[in-house]
Amino acid sequence: MIAIKNLTKYYGELPVLKNCTLDIQKGEVVVLCGPSGSGKSTLIKCMNALEPFQKGEINIDGMVLSDKKTSLPALRQQVGMVFQSFELFPHMTVMDNLIVPQMRILKHSREQAQKKAHELLERVGMKSHGHKYPAQLSGGQQQRVAIARALAMEPKVMLFDEPTSALDPEMVAEVLAVMAELAEQGMTMCCVTHELGFARKIADRMIFMDAGEIIEDSPTDAFFTAPASGRARDFLEQII
Ligand code: ADP
Ligand code: MG
Repeated sequence: MIAIKNLTKYYGELPVLKNCTLDIQKGEVVVLCGPSGSGKSTLIKCMNALEPFQKGEINIDGMVLSDKKTSLPALRQQVGMVFQSFELFPHMTVMDNLIVPQMRILKHSREQAQKKAHELLERVGMKSHGHKYPAQLSGGQQQRVAIARALAMEPKVMLFDEPTSALDPEMVAEVLAVMAELAEQGMTMCCVTHELGFARKIADRMIFMDAGEIIEDSPTDAFFTAPASGRARDFLEQII
């Protein structure tokens, strides 16, 4: 589903991704971890063409990102993204946040879009909040709506960049629960998170990055019980 080959990216002179190679199969759940500044967000943003890169290749289900013929709207429809900050449209109700993009981007009828919006709000436990505006919701509720909105685009892949980092602690679990359910239902997912207990439960594979490099790409159990690199071991000791 996702094939990243020898990806290299600079911000000016500074190399932030160095020769990164990563494959994610359909239905696989991959968690990306590593110290702050190691390039996790940059890698995720490259997958969604939110950041350009200088070398290497990214292929998302046959769409080659460096190919000028690849349509960015089509790519972004197929690659859902949830950020740390809640990115709902503040001037729209929860329902409209889910309906309007379906009508504009997928060209769904209003009835079709409404039906889907109801289903998705139910799925993320937000059924009774459709009439509210984002500012009337807690952070955890906003993030669950943001996940529902991303799913409304019928993506093939979901990318998460620290979706619970900005939440009050009591709201983290409700968002992780929605993500875990999505993983169980077979969504292809790549998540940056420091919630390693959660990662251990849902991830098929763990990727550890440091200083722009993919240092480890291991099955989850192996990563937690016997990380291959000293750097990953140090990281795990600090965080757990
Ligand atoms: P992480 O998500 O792992 O914390 P990032 O991908 O955000 O790391 O950042 C990787 C490196 O790129 C860091 O050194 C960061 O300072 C740098 N960086 C990130 N965004 C920019 C930017 N827009 N311009 C210049 N440097 C950036
Ligand atoms: Mg980051």
